[in-house]
Amino acid sequence: MKRFEGKVALITGAGSGIGRAAALRLASEGARVFCVDLSAPDVEETKAQIEAAGGRAEAHACDVSDEAAVRACVQACVDVCGRIDHLSNMAGILRFDHFHEIALADFRRIVEVNLYGTFLMCREAIPHLLATKGNIVNAASTSALAGLPWGGAYSASKGAVLAMTRTLAVEYGRAGLRANCVCPGDIATPMSKAPRMPKGADFSWMARCSSLNGPMGPEVVAGVIAMLASGDGAHINGEDIRVDGATLS
Ligand code: NAP
Repeated sequence: MKRFEGKVALITGAGSGIGRAAALRLASEGARVFCVDLSAPDVEETKAQIEAAGGRAEAHACDVSDEAAVRACVQACVDVCGRIDHLSNMAGILRFDHFHEIALADFRRIVEVNLYGTFLMCREAIPHLLATKGNIVNAASTSALAGLPWGGAYSASKGAVLAMTRTLAVEYGRAGLRANCVCPGDIATPMSKAPRMPKGADFSWMARCSSLNGPMGPEVVAGVIAMLASGDGAHINGEDIRVDGATLS
């Protein structure tokens, strides 16, 4: 049984990691996936992988923090695919700094991509999602639920994504639109591999934020996104689902 036959999914961050895994998963279950990322070659590669597996995909390069570009991106999805049933906001950036050393420009850029990017995509897609009684899955993080040393800007952006998503759930739930978050932790992707740590940071602290059984691949998050995006998640709205294999924090 294909849960997304006839459905269109717009996925940001689809050129890498969790976004790419979600694009492949939803396509494997019948969705036509509109793959969005900063890098055109990266989303073209995702589209190629989907097509090689017999699925349908489009590739679109877009900076999710650019208002005009996001508006054009959502319109392009509707023009090409005719509708939007699901939006996954997986585009994101991370950097570690001692909190007292965070440059305003760096804090601002993380919020621009992680929060404003999610806001802009949701705002532009919601009229189309209301038409299809569709749904949204946003990438929050375990750092929205517990402290992440040196992740001050990142945690702030992800906590705000979580709060914003809960608001979407109650504001549009009666109109049939659902919005949920995944809170990944310790997922092996380019973002999490060998992060640049600030000088003097004791990386062993991170053990408390790490999965009890070590990192897992992005497919484990993609499976949860697929559940939330499908009818199997029909009664789940405004939730945040940890996908971190349990941590000590
Ligand atoms: P990833 O492999 O780095 O993928 C993120 C993608 O977003 C990259 O392709 C990146 O492009 C793209 N991106 C960055 N800025 C963008 C922009 N302005 N516009 C459009 N796309 C942009 O990371 P991931 O681990 O899959 O992360 C996916 C989401 O899960 C993120 O929101 C992340 O914060 C969240 N998350 C991940 C983990 C984890 O353990 N991996 C844990 C908690 C939360 P470039 O590579 O060109 O920058």
